[in-house]
Amino acid sequence: MAVFVYKFGGTSVGTVERIKVVAEKIKKARDQGDHIVVVVSAMSGETNRLTGLAEEIQFHPNSREMDVLLSTGEQVTMALLSMALHELGCSACSYTGGQVKILTDNTHTKARIREIDDLKIKQDLEKGRVVVVAGFQGVDEYGNITTLGRGGSDTTAVALAAALKADECHIYTDVDGVYTTDPRVEPKARKLDKITFEEMLEMASLGSKVLQIRAVEFAGKYNVALRVLSSFKEGKGTLITYEESEMERALISGIAFNRDEAKLTIAGVPDLPGVASKILCPVADENIEIDMIIQNIADDATTDFTFTVHRNDYQKTKNILETVCSELNAKHVTGDDSIVKISIVGVGMRSHAGIASTMFKVLADEGINIRMISTSEIKISVVVDEKYLELAVRALHKAFGLDKEE
Ligand code: ADP
Ligand code: ASP
Ligand code: MG
Repeated sequence: MAVFVYKFGGTSVGTVERIKVVAEKIKKARDQGDHIVVVVSAMSGETNRLTGLAEEIQFHPNSREMDVLLSTGEQVTMALLSMALHELGCSACSYTGGQVKILTDNTHTKARIREIDDLKIKQDLEKGRVVVVAGFQGVDEYGNITTLGRGGSDTTAVALAAALKADECHIYTDVDGVYTTDPRVEPKARKLDKITFEEMLEMASLGSKVLQIRAVEFAGKYNVALRVLSSFKEGKGTLITYEESEMERALISGIAFNRDEAKLTIAGVPDLPGVASKILCPVADENIEIDMIIQNIADDATTDFTFTVHRNDYQKTKNILETVCSELNAKHVTGDDSIVKISIVGVGMRSHAGIASTMFKVLADEGINIRMISTSEIKISVVVDEKYLELAVRALHKAFGLDKEE
């Protein structure tokens, strides 16, 4: 008997009507004789609503209590879906992350899964039940509720699929697969039948929120067959696969972007050994993640140092830099929290020169100023002003031949 893990995201379970539709879909699969484990997200908007409530009480809500609060969103959905299955005469049982022992570390609000005890799930499946598990949550070794970071239900699904050695893990969402770029920004985006783990990992880490990055990492590591499909319409979706043959490789497979970044510059710092660490260590000590970094040399033996952080950390980082600035006798601190990072991704670019120059020319032709650049073997990222996001994505999409045929 085949084992499938199905995950339904927030929009797919956003109303009672949709939950009933999802239940029909699950029942159909179960009736074909497959074992089905379902992972659910909170109903759409619920995690944001709960976050808003917490922030009305505390500026920086206590992270342990935040996890207790946020985990309730998924708990509501799992119970409602289980009821909808019962209503269809389908045997089902729902569990929180803690109940099925999704053991995590204790990094509240972005915990990592360590281990899953799948005994209870297997016993239920043997009894012919559909097992519904709340996504996005686990429990630490002391029994505290933890959550896995935004989009974390994807990771719950993949981790369960790995633990159960499932035949496939299906991520059902509001688009019918992974596209060359977010179809909400470029309606000419093309659905991909397949994408490699490497590219998907890069796309996810560069801002394509269709899959949480940890889910892709997990699937790659434990060899989980992962597919992204629509909850609303039939189709095969997109399969995440291992590397394709040389022949099939597109130069660029997709364009990702991230609106969640902000950039900061500390100008006129002395160009001496140890300066980078004096700037970045106090930022890292506050658990602020740093993304792109650029250091320039000026004529007068001072340098300008620029880096990006998550937009939520912008003000906090700026305050830290003001202190560092006076300690280092630097000139001043400036920042911009209305920038975006746009990246082109493709394993095919490894063996091709001139991709970067094409990218820069396309942006120049549109009059878009590039503020920062970073590259790796399979991606090129640029930071530009937020107002150019749509224009830049669409121009690059066209220039690299990604537009779908009319
Ligand atoms: P869910 O609630 O089901 O987890 P998400 O909102 O997390 O759904 O992810 C689906 C969304 O991801 C889509 O609605 C789409 O706007 C966005 N997205 C971003 N990049 C891509 C891409 N390359 N392909 C498909 N969808 C993308
Ligand atoms: N409900 C959580 C979120 O909105 C987890 C998820 O949907 O994957 O981020
Ligand atoms: Mg998601």
